[in-house]
Amino acid sequence: MSISKVMVVGAGIMGSGIAQTCIEHGVNTILVDISKELADKGAANVAHFLQRKIEKGKIKAEDREAALKLLSTSGSYEDGKDADVVVEAATENMDIKLKIFAQLDEIMKEDAILCTNTSGMSITKIASAAKRPERVVGTHFFMPVPSMRLVEIIPGLLTSEETEKKAFEFGKLIGKTTVKAPDTAGFIVNRIFEPMRNEAIYLVMEGNKPEDVDQAMKLGCNWPMGPLELADYTGLDTLLASMTKIYEEMGDPKYRPCPLLKKMVNAGMLGRKSGRGFYDYTKK
Ligand code: NAD
Repeated sequence: MSISKVMVVGAGIMGSGIAQTCIEHGVNTILVDISKELADKGAANVAHFLQRKIEKGKIKAEDREAALKLLSTSGSYEDGKDADVVVEAATENMDIKLKIFAQLDEIMKEDAILCTNTSGMSITKIASAAKRPERVVGTHFFMPVPSMRLVEIIPGLLTSEETEKKAFEFGKLIGKTTVKAPDTAGFIVNRIFEPMRNEAIYLVMEGNKPEDVDQAMKLGCNWPMGPLELADYTGLDTLLASMTKIYEEMGDPKYRPCPLLKKMVNAGMLGRKSGRGFYDYTKK
């Protein structure tokens, strides 16, 4: 399959990052959101981040110009119906995704593949909205998309081998390293990573200091950030939602969200965004 055009649906933080990665690899890309204004906002972020790359000496001004020429925006999926690959990166809500996939399945070319960037919902379920679920596949990107090298490729129960193969080709085309991951909560990375942070919270609940837990992981495992600093950074509510989902789906007590995590979320201690989590950000 030759991939000459990509449509990215959802121009938020992930969608604009995916669009940026595509155009930096020479792929004609249309970025679509619920309105042209929102899509333009995503494109403005792409232009901004490419400018920062020039300032850091990572690309030349002409590279930015060439890349931006490949990017267009719209408030309608119809404008991208000739794309070979669609990557849906809209809000993480099953109803929204089901509606999007039902629509995309109607309008896209026969041989186009429909990818979802969901961070944890069932690919099989999302694919059920399409009359041809065999062409739906998960492509899980990581943040920030342009610099994170991995994409997890997640076939649903009915995804065809051909679709899976095209998803791997697409990842390669845009410079990513791909791994196949199972269609179960957390896929591979979050299935391992979220319980590790949950375990760090158990250590705090057992009386250990957050500073000691973080320092141990930074110096003992070479982590750039400690697990609790990172939990504060990404939000304790997000971690709790993710752990709850893994626990419910796997039905195994080893994934039980830490009671202290639940208490902190109930107390409104969500990490950086609320000013307090394992650390106090109100004075910084
Ligand atoms: P975001 O809130 O920044 O952006 C979502 C965008 O989707 C918004 O611009 C919104 O207007 C748009 N949208 C909503 N409904 C739409 C529709 N029907 N059609 C088109 N656009 C629509 O969210 P995000 O962080 O970019 O996440 C997007 C997806 O990527 C989610 O499924 C999320 O779980 C997943 N994801 C996020 C991360 C992360 O670290 N943020 C990492 C991996 C995967």
